[in-house]
Amino acid sequence: MAVTAFSTPEPLDPDALRSAPVRYPHPSRLATPLKVDGPKATAAAQTLGLHTVGDLLEHLPRDRREARAVGELVSGETATVVVEVRSIASRSVRRRGMRPLVEATVGDETGVMKATFFNQPWLVQRYPPGSRLVLHGKYEARNRFRVQGHARTAEAVAGAEAVAHYRATEGLSSTQILALVREHADALGDVAEPLPAALRASEALPDRSGALSASHFPQRDSDVHTARLRLAFDELLLAQLVLLRRRRRRHESARAPVLDGARELSARWLADQLPFALTGDQERALEVIDADIAEVRPMQRLLMGEVGSGKTVVALYALLRAVEHGYQGAFMAPTETLAEQHFATIQALMPGEAVPAGLLTGSTPGRRRSDLLGKLGSGELSLIVGTHALIEDPVRFARLGVAVVDEQHRFGVRQRAALDAKGPEGLTPHVLHMTATPIPRTLALAGYGDLDFTMLRELPRGRQPIETFVCSTERERERAYDRIREELRAGRQAFVVCPLVSESEVVQARAATAEYERLRSGEFSDFGVVLLHGQMASGVKQSAMASFASGEADVLVATSVIEVGIDVPNATVMLVEDADHYGISQLHQLRGRIGRGEHRSLCLLFGPKESARLRALAGYSDGFKLAEIDLELRGEGELVGTRQHGLAQFRVAELPRDAELLERARRHAERIVAEDPGLDRPEHALLADALLDAYGAEALAPIRA
Ligand code: ADP
Ligand code: MG
Repeated sequence: MAVTAFSTPEPLDPDALRSAPVRYPHPSRLATPLKVDGPKATAAAQTLGLHTVGDLLEHLPRDRREARAVGELVSGETATVVVEVRSIASRSVRRRGMRPLVEATVGDETGVMKATFFNQPWLVQRYPPGSRLVLHGKYEARNRFRVQGHARTAEAVAGAEAVAHYRATEGLSSTQILALVREHADALGDVAEPLPAALRASEALPDRSGALSASHFPQRDSDVHTARLRLAFDELLLAQLVLLRRRRRRHESARAPVLDGARELSARWLADQLPFALTGDQERALEVIDADIAEVRPMQRLLMGEVGSGKTVVALYALLRAVEHGYQGAFMAPTETLAEQHFATIQALMPGEAVPAGLLTGSTPGRRRSDLLGKLGSGELSLIVGTHALIEDPVRFARLGVAVVDEQHRFGVRQRAALDAKGPEGLTPHVLHMTATPIPRTLALAGYGDLDFTMLRELPRGRQPIETFVCSTERERERAYDRIREELRAGRQAFVVCPLVSESEVVQARAATAEYERLRSGEFSDFGVVLLHGQMASGVKQSAMASFASGEADVLVATSVIEVGIDVPNATVMLVEDADHYGISQLHQLRGRIGRGEHRSLCLLFGPKESARLRALAGYSDGFKLAEIDLELRGEGELVGTRQHGLAQFRVAELPRDAELLERARRHAERIVAEDPGLDRPEHALLADALLDAYGAEALAPIRA
């Protein structure tokens, strides 16, 4: 194979190769503290996390901005230029206490101007005529350029040159960072290569040192792209290694009860008690769960399915499997309200109390609480529904076999460990995680790569489609209220969701209260209207929900607290105010509150017609499809679901743009963890170092062979 220059297919000429310097990387030199001139800049460097030379070299340009040609600058414009110094001198300033001003005549092929530097007399020596500089500043009247940032550049003096822009802060400008990087460019040779040579060759990736160098100082356009891919690959590979090693560690070292007996109680429940037939997706989910819990290694499965897709049925099945093997089952929800709802659903799905179940939340009274705790400890109670408080210290289970964790994104690694510790004598419970937020595959892989996935895409039969409209004008608003009143007169019920006016719950609550008052005495004065928001006392909340659930109230005015929970099949309309303030996934979740019964449903989104998000909701009902659109519209960093889910945020990699790269990194990570789980082989030593650097010692905890 011919040796080529970075990011080009052109072979290098043999003389250039022979004269190339031999590199002897000293990675330890990268730990040298970074020295920056002046206390202000030093503090700024600390703020940016630039403590060592290595940190500096890993501080990659955020983008590259076209440098402007001097001849094209217009007065008042802030710009970056690449120029040559023609002459330079300092000029004293009249005012006392001011250091002299440095004035330079600088120019490129298109023009010449006067650049002024303030408070830095030493620049006269540092930038003699002929110096090439990149300057950032403001072009002002009389052909003056007030310099805000400056650095020497090796880049040719030309009009339209791209200049690297770094994340900067007060006290340390992007241009100064560029100068520092230049100063320490030699240290790029000290960067170690974490990837095994065979992997690099098979993926045709350039070396890491070269990629860092190319992203700071590209020689040609293709360099930036090639370098980015290489650095993104490293990031994705390390993230996948962490996830896959965590999963492996669990598989290797944790043992769960083997639940492989025939279905008995669960079979009777499915056949005699469940009032409907399972969907195909539910059947398949039951089968994979059966296979999971029949193994000695603990189940770690994520059940993804939209609101109403029937996850609770699947979860209850898993819990009953534990019970019929003589173990206990626990169902955990992130909030009290949700725990209460799950408890109600479970009771409805399991009439006649075939299995005694309890509800334990923060508001369970003391007497009842200690009774429940006692029965859990003795094993008398088989099923418990509660908040995440169930994994807290005082709760002891006699024989916890299966745990269901709803809305897994609020459940971190530490909580998982606490849950694991709740199993009987040396055994870890099987865990089924559930989420109603549909996540595109790439994000699921990036964030939950240590879990197995099952999706419920198919909605239970008999679900009525929801018609969704975007309403923008006053006339449409009038018509919307007419339609709602029509539905209410026909005996249906409606949700009114108030705008997401601010992050503050108090402000939200106030807005919802005002809208409630307005509607109660206005548009819906003939109907029963109730209010629900997060600031209400738990008892008041409950009675509002109860009166809506029983059909006593016709309209529920709420903040987005109804996003999850509440199952009222008779509710057929949802009106969302300022809908464009909500994200796609939130709106989709909200909409899932209707269309649950036998009647056709209607969703009215108030907001601008041109909103791409609102258009997507009007056009699609499949949550996975909407999640993909959301990802495309906003990118991973901005995706609300992403942040809620605590999915990995990358520095270089971008999803979904790098989805294919992620798949490649995943495949290599799988192979590496299968072949060398401890990363003990010599060719993986530097990879292990990189993992340690990026994720800390926890990521390298040993895996028992
Ligand atoms: P999720 O937890 O995914 O939001 P649930 O399990 O709460 O969904 O189910 C939503 C509603 O649909 C419940 O009223 C439930 O009884 C009902 N349901 C679930 N599975 C089916 C099915 N296969 N056929 C008909 N109705 C179903
Ligand atoms: Mg549910």
